Formats: sequence, structure tokens, C-alpha cells
Amino acid sequence: MSRYVLLDRDGVLVEDTDYPHRPEDYRLLPGTVDALGALKDAGYRFVIVTNQSGIGRGYYDEAAFQRFQQLLFDDLAQGGIEIAGTFHCPHHPEAGCPCRKPEPGLLYQARDAFGIALEDTWLIGDHLRDTDAAKAAGCRGAILLAAEGPDLPQDVVRCDDLAAAAAYLLALDA
Ligand SMILES: [Mg+2]
Ligand SMILES: [Zn+2]
Repeated sequence: MSRYVLLDRDGVLVEDTDYPHRPEDYRLLPGTVDALGALKDAGYRFVIVTNQSGIGRGYYDEAAFQRFQQLLFDDLAQGGIEIAGTFHCPHHPEAGCPCRKPEPGLLYQARDAFGIALEDTWLIGDHLRDTDAAKAAGCRGAILLAAEGPDLPQDVVRCDDLAAAAAYLLALDA
């Protein structure tokens, strides 16, 4: 049976340049392929759950989002990494949708599409709204990529970067 890691995108896999969507905004974060490769070797598959309110705000459209995704997919594929699925919230923050993190809707979409046992699943994000979504969805745990910042809620793990997060998850198997 597959196991999954839920991944925020901006600030976790690619640099968060403030609504990145143009090709020139695209920068894969260093160490991403190696970190995901280590998790893949341990049997993990990957699903992206990403707020993309830039669409609802009118900064870019779905096609631009998909083109940007393809840049990421192409880069990861070169490293032998596949993203099983992407679930994104295109809505304006004031739309009151059920999918914008910290709401759990995107995680439920992922669960339903792939049969993911959320209670056994970790999420990696770079904002508390990511880790709050994981808690709201009943995930096993959440990792916040942030070198420093406010005190964290209990059961949120802080790691410096994706490599450290991968090492943390791999150590759970040991
Ligand atoms: Mg982010
Ligand atoms: Zn939404």
C-alpha cells in the first residue's frame, strides 16, 4: 500500500516569490530532488496541496498555473520524482471556500482521489495555515519549514528545510 506526503508548493518545493506563476518566477528550491528522492526510496508518494489565491485575485489564470506546474514536474521528472496529484484552491481569500488552507478541503480532495489515510499522513508546509489544515484534516502530523518564528502548536515539528523534513520522516521508520 502506498503512503503519501502532502506538500505545500510555494516555499516548500519552489521559491515563494509572492504569487509565483510566470516562467521567470520559477526556482526549484535547492535540495528538493534529493529530499523527495530519499522519501520516494522509502516508499512515499507525493501530493501537492496549494493555495493559489492569485487566480481568484485575478493575478493569473488557470493556464498560467498549469504551465508553472509543468516546469516543476519537468524538473522533478529529471530527478526521477513524480507528483501523483495536485490539488489547488483558486479562490479569493474572502470567498469563504472550504478548500483554502487552513481549511482542510484540499486535503480531503487528496484523500478521496487517492484513498489516503490522513491519520497516517504527514504534511509539509511553510505557514501555520498549512499545518493548521493538517490538524483540521486529522493528519498524523505536520512539519513547518521555518528556521524561526512564533511558538508552534503542539504536534507541529519545525525543520529548517525539506532535507531536514525528509530526514525527520525517515527517522520515524527506524
Ligand atoms: Mg507556502
Ligand atoms: Zn478554495
